[in-house]
Amino acid sequence: MSGSLSIGIDIGGTRVKAALVDEKGALSSELNEPSHLDRDYPAFVSRLKEITERLRGLSDVDVAGVGLAVAGLMDAEREVVIEAPNCGILIGRRLARDIEQLTGMMTVMDNDASAMALGEGFSGAARGSRHYIAITLGTGIGGAVVSGGRLIRGFDGGGGELGHIPIDRHGPRCNCGAHGCLEAFIGKAGLRRYIEQNHPQFSDTGLKELNVIARNGDDAARDVFTYLGRTLGVAVAGLVNIFNPELVIVGGGVAHASELFMEPLREEVRARAFKSYLGSLNIRPASLGNWAGVVGAATMVRQ
Ligand SMILES: [Zn+2]
Repeated sequence: MSGSLSIGIDIGGTRVKAALVDEKGALSSELNEPSHLDRDYPAFVSRLKEITERLRGLSDVDVAGVGLAVAGLMDAEREVVIEAPNCGILIGRRLARDIEQLTGMMTVMDNDASAMALGEGFSGAARGSRHYIAITLGTGIGGAVVSGGRLIRGFDGGGGELGHIPIDRHGPRCNCGAHGCLEAFIGKAGLRRYIEQNHPQFSDTGLKELNVIARNGDDAARDVFTYLGRTLGVAVAGLVNIFNPELVIVGGGVAHASELFMEPLREEVRARAFKSYLGSLNIRPASLGNWAGVVGAATMVRQ
């Protein structure tokens, strides 16, 4: 490795976040801009090039390379983006290679949930752990399993789609086309359905606002987060039985409400998972917030 800094870039459907990341995971020169993924691919790539060069210019030491976290699925070699529901112009593209050619800097890429898990493992809530599961709650449910210090990727490289664990054979239709996935229950649309069916007075209330109402003691609002925690707990109990992790961390856009759903989540896991696995198990919020993907992307450069 030639420098003690690398560049992490997290490409989401609405925002691109980027920063210089040092060998301890500390961020500097953070950028957070609209993604403009409605434009064409060459325009997007040249903007990434410009971001990369801007950050390199701000560093007074050599930069080791660039890591890209992309909200999509990669092929097994992590060279081509094969699926990206919110970043359609990236599908079929060799994004890392294109950035490498334009900037002359070594560039790697991975899925955003994998990057989040790597970032939390490097300098966040899972630091020092070799057996952990990271879950992100947002519009969709994402995640990654790290076992023995390695991400579980499976044969095609797509392993770790924790949002699409089926938890109910007769459950509602999911964004993936199947029925009864975890995401169909507690992804953004699933939570909205639960609210409309059970607490219609909150049909037009955003989750952040609902969180405030719940904290102020409203039982109906609290119930929404209890439902979230308990439903997530069913899936996590299964994951605990399969992977025997020492740690489960939960982050993502809904993590602002972790105080409300964490205990129902733990209760459900305690009630369902193998008792012999529970003694060594911790379940806690992720700690790097929206920047976990940037840290993780930069970490990939060092691996
Ligand atoms: Zn699904």
